[in-house]
Amino acid sequence: MPSAACTHIESLSGVAASRARQCDDCVAIGSSWVHLRTCQTCGETRCCDSSPNRHASQHALASRHAVVASAEPSERWLYCYPDDAFAEY
Ligand SMILES: [Zn+2]
Ligand SMILES: [Zn+2]
Ligand SMILES: [Zn+2]
Repeated sequence: MPSAACTHIESLSGVAASRARQCDDCVAIGSSWVHLRTCQTCGETRCCDSSPNRHASQHALASRHAVVASAEPSERWLYCYPDDAFAEY
């Protein structure tokens, strides 16, 4: 895993891929999203901060799950919310 980002990212043993290419929280309320992020603690996929509901950020705050990976096929990066740290892999 990339070093020099933060301890959360450094301690990951691998990157969890998204199970479904959708935000379940948005589907539940009939909303839509822009991009998807996958929580690296629980493996659930939610929508990004460009989306109206920002479910990935809400989840990170509420659950204290620190790191997400982009779930976009063309993007390979990790982001840690508490440290505001970004790393490509
Ligand atoms: Zn961190
Ligand atoms: Zn959402
Ligand atoms: Zn999580």
